[in-house]
Amino acid sequence: MLISENILLVANVKMSVGNEGSGSHEIKNYVEANGSGDCKKVALITGITGQDGSYLAEFLLKKSYEVHGIIRRASTFNTSRIEHLYADPKAHKGGRMKLHYGDMTDSSSLVKIINMVKPTEIYNLAAQSHVKVSFDLSEYTAEVDAVGTLRILDAIRTCGMEKTVRFYQASTSELYGKVAKTPQNEQTPFYPRSPYACAKMYGFWIVVNYREAYNMFACNGILFNHESPRRGENFVTRKITRSVAKIFHQQLEYFELGNLDSKRDWGHAMDYVEAMWMMLQCEKPTDFVIATGETHSVREFVQEAFKFIGREIVWQGEGVNEVGIEKESGKVRVRINPKYFRPTEVDLLLGDASKAFRELNWRPKVTFKKLIEDMMRADIELMKKNPIA
Ligand code: NAP
Ligand code: GDP
Repeated sequence: MLISENILLVANVKMSVGNEGSGSHEIKNYVEANGSGDCKKVALITGITGQDGSYLAEFLLKKSYEVHGIIRRASTFNTSRIEHLYADPKAHKGGRMKLHYGDMTDSSSLVKIINMVKPTEIYNLAAQSHVKVSFDLSEYTAEVDAVGTLRILDAIRTCGMEKTVRFYQASTSELYGKVAKTPQNEQTPFYPRSPYACAKMYGFWIVVNYREAYNMFACNGILFNHESPRRGENFVTRKITRSVAKIFHQQLEYFELGNLDSKRDWGHAMDYVEAMWMMLQCEKPTDFVIATGETHSVREFVQEAFKFIGREIVWQGEGVNEVGIEKESGKVRVRINPKYFRPTEVDLLLGDASKAFRELNWRPKVTFKKLIEDMMRADIELMKKNPIA
């Protein structure tokens, strides 16, 4: 898709938070404090082309927001996750959101965009978001995930909007790293275990600092892993569902993974973007853990994905020699490749989102099993249409 400078018209629509609120006490307070909720709501999303950005844009458009997104220039199109949100993608016109070229490493682009868009809410989702890649691209990860967060906060101040903008920061359960306590909540100390987590740690604290120093409405959402059919292909869940779908279509014999025993609290991205929005509707800015409260191993994820196609996986061997065998055929379907091990691993994440349950009235709707079913269904369809996807 081609994005020229003035490609998309932005619908000048009115927002009514009150009509679609979640019933939360805090949210009602915000609507009352801001009048009837009729004021125009303008959201700016960094990372709109990513998994979460695409779901959030959809969610906010349904709430009649004017949605602006920052996209970076790439040599290939990077807008596939949001193409369906254009009214007429072929003709490149008439969408209800507007995209702007910018980059988290380029302060002047951030200042220009914020000054032009005059957002009421900013969702900072842009990041080099892959933990393993961050060991190879550690400096770049810090530039985007740590200093990028500072750049956008400063851009808000440069535009004189620190008293009017509400700011969401995509913080992460990776901050807990080598966990001090299980389950993890807002009081659990951080112990980052990767350049990604260290960069996000700076992002977390600079948001807290700007909130305290300049009285900004800025929140950290400490989100545990969340997945979907739109998850990046090199995250373990999507890698598994894509591979199992290919095995189902006889396009693949086996696939390779790293640490099968690490455990994650996996939720669905659609549920999690709603929590982001809810945080910005509160009366006071604060930080929230968002999680399902259930943890599962990579091994369990593999088993469930195979179950969806009616196969059973049994494990044999140990360490790097362990294999996952399909019981029905005796074929090896999963092997271990040490290249997927991390120099430092996060073994176990399990979130306690009771603050979000209590104060936002947020609840995860999609279970572990349903999440896998959703991803499997989508990837089976994808591989059927395009075996080389
Ligand atoms: P994602 O799919 O990897 O999306 C990342 C987005 O950031 C993409 O739109 C990407 O653009 C953009 N981006 C990367 N570098 C950029 C730069 N230098 N300038 C501007 N944009 C840049 O990540 P996600 O899963 O949606 O996650 C969203 C945010 O939540 C991230 O900050 C992530 O670290 C955080 N988070 C995610 C999870 C999770 O489980 N998904 C959990 C906790 C926190 P391109 O499309 O051009 O690559
Ligand atoms: P993360 O929690 O943000 O690092 O999300 P990932 O999906 O990248 O990884 C989740 C867990 O799966 C980590 O503990 C990884 O070590 C583990 N894992 C095992 N095999 C793989 C693999 O092949 N790719 C990825 N990305 N992770 C793997």
